[in-house]
Amino acid sequence: MSALLSPSDDQGLGAGYHSPQVAVDVRLNTNESPYPPPRAFVHALATELADVAFNRYPDREARELRAALGRLHGVDPEQVFVANGSNEVLQTLLLTYGGPGRRAAVFEPTYALHSHLGRLTRTGLWVGERQPDFGLDLGEVKRAAAEADPAVTFVCSPNNPTGGAEPRAVVEEVLDLAPGLVVVDEAYGQFAPWSALDLVGPDVGLVVVRTYSKTWSMAAARLGYLVGPAAVVAELERRVLPYHLDAVKQAAGRLALRFTAEMEARVAAIKDERRRILDGLDRLAVEWWPSDANFVLFRPTTGDGRELWARLVERSVLVRDVGEWPRLSGCLRVTVGTPAENDAFLAALYEALDQGQEDL
Ligand SMILES: *Cc1c(COP(=O)(O)O)cnc(C)c1O
Repeated sequence: MSALLSPSDDQGLGAGYHSPQVAVDVRLNTNESPYPPPRAFVHALATELADVAFNRYPDREARELRAALGRLHGVDPEQVFVANGSNEVLQTLLLTYGGPGRRAAVFEPTYALHSHLGRLTRTGLWVGERQPDFGLDLGEVKRAAAEADPAVTFVCSPNNPTGGAEPRAVVEEVLDLAPGLVVVDEAYGQFAPWSALDLVGPDVGLVVVRTYSKTWSMAAARLGYLVGPAAVVAELERRVLPYHLDAVKQAAGRLALRFTAEMEARVAAIKDERRRILDGLDRLAVEWWPSDANFVLFRPTTGDGRELWARLVERSVLVRDVGEWPRLSGCLRVTVGTPAENDAFLAALYEALDQGQEDL
């Protein structure tokens, strides 16, 4: 075959970013909502679909969707950028502000896609460390500014996979220290005690990225957005493909916002279940970290995380093995599910740890 068929540069991409899917009864590995969206939403969308002009290209500027999101957050539609999942939002940010000759700062352990997209867009990566409790280390943010002058600084809050949200004072401090754009990834923002959305302003180098994938029960739709300065949004718009956001998705995203009360009730229920999971973990031979998200990071106090993961799969419960991520050796991450799923998880974990004791 022609040499031209080989990729221009492997960029250390590895196998790409993915979470292994295994056929099990209880899937608690990808942080989605355990609940489907409200029936009334599905009906409203079905009705609306009858009116979509499928022969025509969609509204390229997604005006109605952006206006609805603007109303939700109390900002102008011009301050809202929408894309196919927040991952496309993040990729567009790096296409716009990163690229060859520029650097992005990430603080590990954190969401692996930030560095993956850095490699994909040929943005240089400056990798810093978090504190022992996995909170952001402002000394590292300062060091990044001095050593790398990053065009983009990623703050994941609540942080995936460790679970903690950054305090407001820390994000304010990052805004002072970071020389370029600060990207606060709030994929789990609705579970956190506060939102950096409050800090967005026309003269602040801050964008806050959100997704429909987690709290809005719409991971299948692939829809995400950011709120930031209108000037930033205008630059991002210039770099996406024409008509990148289809008409069905625009309608789905707009209609979902009519069900904010239902979404908030689910968030409250998931937070209650999170408490119940932590109480359960407290009684078992595991170490766990506090969570402001819909998942919990934990590790067995003795024995091997990978082995424990396999024993859970044997009991038809799938969690995420994050033991290969920086500084998370032996750690697993469980998504908060329905009460029945969480019961199944805790029961399986109890058995699996017990089996581990017998093996000793
Ligand atoms: C799940 C997740 C996302 C969501 O990505 P989508 O493309 O919107 O599904 C973004 N950031 C973080 C940190 C996540 O965990």
